[in-house]
Amino acid sequence: MKNVTTRAVIYKKNLENNISEIKKLLKPETKMCVAVKADGYGTSALETARLCEKLGVYMLAIARVSEGIELRKDGIKLPLLLLSLCCPEEFPDLVKYNITPFIFGKEHIQALEDSLTELEESKGIIKTLEVHLAIDTGMGRIGCRKEEAAEQAKLIASSKHLKLSGMGTHFALSDCVEEKGIDYTNLQFEIFTEAVNAVKEAGIEPGICHAGASAIACSRSDIHFDMVRPGIIVYGYYADQVDKKYLESKDINLDLKPIMQFETKVSAIRRFKPGQSVSYGRTWICEEETDIAVLPVGYADGLLRRFSPGLKVAINGKEYPVVGRICMDQCMVNIGKDNKEIKCWDKAVIFGPVGQDGALQDAETLAALGNTISYEVMTSISKRVPRIVVDNC
Ligand SMILES: *Cc1c(COP(=O)(O)O)cnc(C)c1O
Repeated sequence: MKNVTTRAVIYKKNLENNISEIKKLLKPETKMCVAVKADGYGTSALETARLCEKLGVYMLAIARVSEGIELRKDGIKLPLLLLSLCCPEEFPDLVKYNITPFIFGKEHIQALEDSLTELEESKGIIKTLEVHLAIDTGMGRIGCRKEEAAEQAKLIASSKHLKLSGMGTHFALSDCVEEKGIDYTNLQFEIFTEAVNAVKEAGIEPGICHAGASAIACSRSDIHFDMVRPGIIVYGYYADQVDKKYLESKDINLDLKPIMQFETKVSAIRRFKPGQSVSYGRTWICEEETDIAVLPVGYADGLLRRFSPGLKVAINGKEYPVVGRICMDQCMVNIGKDNKEIKCWDKAVIFGPVGQDGALQDAETLAALGNTISYEVMTSISKRVPRIVVDNC
């Protein structure tokens, strides 16, 4: 394991556990499209992709063409679904790297077809590109309305270089288990079903139909269609209200394990006397003599500035408070005077799987402190933090 101070440890066993746990909840014929966008939610898209290939996952979801190019260059062969729109300049790369885009809108479809025609005319590249038609059933993001679905599917089907190989939509309230959430999800499900049927009635094969992300994958097997697109549960966190307790109440057993641990090392221990202060703004002033541990981790690593005050880190099995403002590259922890349990270069864990390798809180607990969600805490871990993949737990 690379010996650096601040790092994100990725537990492969936990990832493997999560993927097989999710699979157990799917019908044998239901396909899985694992979201590896944003570098696998800040973990490692490549590690996740490799494991997905090994474990028989059908497809991977990305959000940028650049993410697809990187995976292809690293040898990933699985089909890639591009969840958000790309600009016309990126169209040739869809062909070159075999990326299946979500698409909708007559102009966008026509522009893609024109770009492929030009590739054929100028470079002699004759390729058909598989595309999935996006339907907006109430998320209010991308997709055509259900009334436009048949017409746009026809446009795709009649294009020389495009092949409709799927249709998808996205739910807005699937992680809410209150009545308003369930009602809205059911409404979106109905609208999507109508769009799919309209395409079929127009004599066009819609391909693989898919709608649900993590929340649906684990709680609503009645609306899985042909494929689900889980993300957050793959990385070990439940989708908001669709948590372990809720699932158990529905007799669904899903045992997820966070796959990432964000940790650093104590880089200095310094004595503070009453009146001396810590960090910018002098928001913390020493009241009685104590020792302060300096940690080389800050908001440029993804330790959000708003986590302080309130943030606690785990050192050798105990929690200690961060005092003063979190800086760009460092923060300070009050460990108490003459703490015999801590020495320089001891490991300090910010979040990770609780009870596994020293973490006393996971990303979800930390997220609550910063008024956000586990997704944002994980994807905030920045590029300069090395991801260290370990086999064992
Ligand atoms: C990010 C995303 C997913 C995965 O969402 P999770 O809540 O992490 O499971 C699935 N589908 C689409 C369209 C997305 O944007």
